[in-house]
Amino acid sequence: MSTLELVSRTEEKKIKVPVKIAVAEGDGIGPEIMKATLNILKKAGAEIEPEFIELGEKAYLAGKTSGIDEDAWGIIKNNKIILKAPITTPQGKGYKSLNVTLRKTLGLFANVRPVEAYSPFVPTHFPKMDVVIIRENEEDLYAGVEHRQTQDVYQCLKLITRPGCERIIRYAFEYAKVYNRKKVTCMVKDNIMKITDGLFHKVFDEIAQEYPEIKNEVQIIDIGSAKLAAQPEDYDVIVTSNLYGDIISDIAAEIGGSVGMCGSSNIGKEVAMFEAIHGSAPDIASKNIANPSGLLNAAISMLAHIGQAEIGDKIKNAWLCTIEQGYHTADIYRKDVSRKQVGTEEFTNIIISNIGRTPNLLPKSFSSSGNRMINIPDYIRKEQKKELVGVDVFLDWKEADPEKLGSVLSRLDIYQLKLKMITNRGVKVYPEGLSETYCTDHWRCRFVSQSAIINKDEPDYKAIEFEHILALQSVLHHLGYDVIKTENLYEFEGHRGFSLGQGE
Ligand code: NAD
Repeated sequence: MSTLELVSRTEEKKIKVPVKIAVAEGDGIGPEIMKATLNILKKAGAEIEPEFIELGEKAYLAGKTSGIDEDAWGIIKNNKIILKAPITTPQGKGYKSLNVTLRKTLGLFANVRPVEAYSPFVPTHFPKMDVVIIRENEEDLYAGVEHRQTQDVYQCLKLITRPGCERIIRYAFEYAKVYNRKKVTCMVKDNIMKITDGLFHKVFDEIAQEYPEIKNEVQIIDIGSAKLAAQPEDYDVIVTSNLYGDIISDIAAEIGGSVGMCGSSNIGKEVAMFEAIHGSAPDIASKNIANPSGLLNAAISMLAHIGQAEIGDKIKNAWLCTIEQGYHTADIYRKDVSRKQVGTEEFTNIIISNIGRTPNLLPKSFSSSGNRMINIPDYIRKEQKKELVGVDVFLDWKEADPEKLGSVLSRLDIYQLKLKMITNRGVKVYPEGLSETYCTDHWRCRFVSQSAIINKDEPDYKAIEFEHILALQSVLHHLGYDVIKTENLYEFEGHRGFSLGQGE
């Protein structure tokens, strides 16, 4: 045998090694739709080897408040790919969301949800809708860092990182590239959150430059989501942060008319998880009427992720044929458009019999290269000069009189630190506040060097020492003020790293 033959045989063998995947059959309709999905994958020739894991109701009821046991963790860590049917979260306190646990523990940074219309076979107001929402999955207000700071004030920290923005935004552009999509829309609220959402916008502009062949646009989330609901056909790929993405991906699925048909992917650097977006539908469990399409579409994305896009396309086309032929499960059956109402098993068998066919009317799924794997480079951190230039001291003070507070604090001179302003719920109330501004028991008092106070338009912040902040806190404490927290003010490479007060 020649070396070439040997190499190609080895290559062939390498491709044929099945990819081990962790399979969670879930609860309610989970086992039925998983059986249907695995059956279709097998018949289409997917090179996968399922390893079953126990997640969800059984694990919860066995006392695992996270809904997952040690054995399952071990299989997930080894296989790194999870195909998950929906699970039932038992009612009552103490049970943690399994999805949040998996997402955070496994670093699944991207949630990808394609929403397509299958008009006229599945009725929708938007027959040309074909949008993919790519949502950052780990950061933002979902970090769960919350505090009650005073009797009346509660806070939740919104954390946005540069590596997090780079990763999700690059993923969105790479996704657009391999799926031959034409436009990426970024949705932010940086007219208000200039630093956090401003970073997301800035990183989007930087990365968009690297993909000149893909159109890009930025929209403010409020008008963006309104437009998405009214004209979803104008959108292609949308990338956004966690909370906005959570909301708009549900809006998109609802108006697409295909909640029961959507799959979603949760992508991490090492591990990826694929699932339907609907729940475990206990009301129709074990009745052979559930629609397996959501999980099947998730499995098609999984095949692309593991380098088997061509098999995924084959399955997608067989499924599209079945939808076109009018064989519909009860949830999408309409007398005027459907040919026959079928159960889960019959629907599955018809899809299998359609393998090898392509749809006539619905756009067929086709990947020219057969490769839709997406690799994101590691983040490269560039060190920046960081300088401490002041401090915001937060006080719990119940007298609603900013002038009184300001006149005391403005007399302080601790090393070089002088009071620049006081805000209440972000609005400047001293100096020159308005008596109309409602004040609660939460006061942010900004102290900076004298030079930064003199010129209001171009404040000249001077570096200060951390000890000066400690001294200031000590003085405030001895004057009887309740210091609830401090936030240091920094400049990075000479650029202000903090927002101005409203009205400052
Ligand atoms: P659900 O999505 O399970 O059901 C809502 C409605 O849609 C029901 O009438 C149901 O019969 C129908 N439906 C859902 N999927 C269907 C399918 N494939 N085919 C036909 N009809 C379908 O939402 P729910 O009732 O609010 O939640 C039930 C359980 O699922 C809850 O315990 C919830 O916590 C859980 N849940 C799990 C996930 C997940 O695992 N990712 C997601 C959402 C909800």
